[in-house]
Amino acid sequence: MAAPAAIPYLRRMRPEDLLTPTPAGVCCKAGGFHIDPTRPVERAVITHGHSDHARAGHGAVLATQETLDLMRLRYGETFAGTTQAIRYGERIALGGIAVALHPAGHVLGSAQVAVQANGLRIVASGDYKNVADPTCTPFELIPCDVFITEATFGLPVFRHGDADAEIAKLLRSVALFPERAHLIGAYSLGKAQRVIALIRQAGHDMPIYLHGALERITHYYESRGIALGELRSVRNASKAELAGAIALCPPSALQELWSRRFPDPVSAFASGWMRVRARARQRRVELPLVISDHADWDGLTATIIATGASEVWVTHGQEDALVHWAMLRGLKARPLAIVGYGDEGESEDAEPMPNGEASA
Ligand SMILES: [Zn+2]
Ligand SMILES: [Zn+2]
Repeated sequence: MAAPAAIPYLRRMRPEDLLTPTPAGVCCKAGGFHIDPTRPVERAVITHGHSDHARAGHGAVLATQETLDLMRLRYGETFAGTTQAIRYGERIALGGIAVALHPAGHVLGSAQVAVQANGLRIVASGDYKNVADPTCTPFELIPCDVFITEATFGLPVFRHGDADAEIAKLLRSVALFPERAHLIGAYSLGKAQRVIALIRQAGHDMPIYLHGALERITHYYESRGIALGELRSVRNASKAELAGAIALCPPSALQELWSRRFPDPVSAFASGWMRVRARARQRRVELPLVISDHADWDGLTATIIATGASEVWVTHGQEDALVHWAMLRGLKARPLAIVGYGDEGESEDAEPMPNGEASA
């Protein structure tokens, strides 16, 4: 008589049978889809709109409405063959595999992807953070067997602290230097809007100025009901008007000619990477603001524990330290080594050093 383990339907499904890691992203063969693939595929489930996760050229794309809208804003109407929006918590079946999206708390529309079959649930969290953000739905904890986590800030040195305290620091500087402009480098999707919302929460109600590259996404956030107060275009502002004002721009613009239109600007940069003083110095940032849209070390480890997962797959960032930590806790853990997340330098995922040195 054959041992029970040899009978397929009695064998517990292996996680790798449900989601198979490939260098271009994880693939669900039975469901016929990839999650955040870094090359064009037939069917993609996309966690959020950052360009290293949300690429153009897939046949069919399943995502939240906001992620689809942000992809459309960035790539134009023809970014995918077909699209399907699903709401947080809504469950659909793809090839007999149950798929649901849950809030990831990273940027507007960001989602974790829960994939389930034969009693096995894997959650691919994309990028996430477990702290409050006035511009997106809070992270929702989904119990699972396997948790796929990012590790952008996966080293114990990364503790982001309190974003409100960083904003208070900014507003003290604005009060101290009323004749100077404060120019904040912030990633165009998510960070810029969160910084503005935090400034408003702190009670600052003066107009805030935007670099042209931030306008479309920021106005999209407003169209989704996120109040950001009075926003003006830097383009139309005189130097005198910018004295004492706060303006936001993409990080790359801080060092560009563009910044010379500001009166004696205080250069600030809102990023989890600002915890590292050498990075602030290298970017010639006068006022580093430690504000991140990714979980810090404590957030990553607390979330992994809270999911109850017995197995952790770690992707993009400081994979080794988190894998090591998980194994010490008796969890099964592996790095995924997906190539292509963080390449664009336009999100916080992998912040290239100004001299071109890689961040990892
Ligand atoms: Zn992201
Ligand atoms: Zn990412």
